Amino acid sequence: MKEYYLGLDLGGTKILTGLADSEGKIITRARRDTEANLGEDKIIENMIATIEAVLKKADVDRDEVRTLGIGSPGPLDAKKGIIIENANLPWKNVPLVEKIESALGIKTLLKNDANAAALGEKWFGAGKSVDNMVYITISTGIGGGAIINRELFSGINDNACEVGHTVIDPDGPLCGCGNHGCLEAFSSGTSIGKRAREAAAAGQSKEMLELADNIIEDIDAVICAQAAYQGDQAAKEIFENAGYHLGIGLGNVVNTFNTEMIILGGGVMKASDLFLETAIKTMEDIALAGSLEMVTVKEAELGSDIGLMGAIAVAMEDRLKKND
Ligand SMILES: [Zn+2]
Repeated sequence: MKEYYLGLDLGGTKILTGLADSEGKIITRARRDTEANLGEDKIIENMIATIEAVLKKADVDRDEVRTLGIGSPGPLDAKKGIIIENANLPWKNVPLVEKIESALGIKTLLKNDANAAALGEKWFGAGKSVDNMVYITISTGIGGGAIINRELFSGINDNACEVGHTVIDPDGPLCGCGNHGCLEAFSSGTSIGKRAREAAAAGQSKEMLELADNIIEDIDAVICAQAAYQGDQAAKEIFENAGYHLGIGLGNVVNTFNTEMIILGGGVMKASDLFLETAIKTMEDIALAGSLEMVTVKEAELGSDIGLMGAIAVAMEDRLKKND
């Protein structure tokens, strides 16, 4: 009997599901709106519908599927399979794994999306060749996942590697978590957008205002990047500043983990040429020589497939660790 694996990337707006063969190659995929506003049962119904769709398309039976891996925004309890709470999904303490397993009869594993992405990059992306790496996603927020000796290090209750909430400057801007000066409050897409709106409101950037048709509230990190590429000085400085603080964060990661590799992913990395050089230079300034000489910083390789490949890696982790 052939062996298959399922990966499901649960997002606030869409659900992406893929069926993979025993090598992790995607055979079929399905996509559906999450319909988060319609409540918990509807979300689970939509998840199951995508799984049934990929199985049907590939003509594979449920009992041929070894494991289903789910990557979801947290906070969640991976060991218990419970989603604790989420800003974009209307649930609280939902025993997701139990519900999916009883509906489908397929063994299900749950990980937070940044941890799943770290596993994806380790087994299928930029981290294939190394045993120790830290993945950092720079997106709406900043999250991460550490792979130590080929295994995901999740911490005692799945809160390890929250690099976005390491404090870079205690006198810095307020973060969503309540602290001041977290890395996320400086270098996430949300923070870059906020700085950009402040700069535009202070009359420092005509370009950003023009790109947003003079509606300051519409200015975000994407518009800020466009303006920077057009040579707008204020926009360029915002990215430089985000890069400087990211570099401090990276230096801390180098000094804490001493891994062979740091992989950077997430939407903000699309504009990496606006800030990465500054980030690396700052990292080099503060990292200890012994760790610095061993580490390589790489861009993530899985692109828009990272959520799905991460979920597949969650499903396959035990097999990959043994067979590689
Ligand atoms: Zn924070």
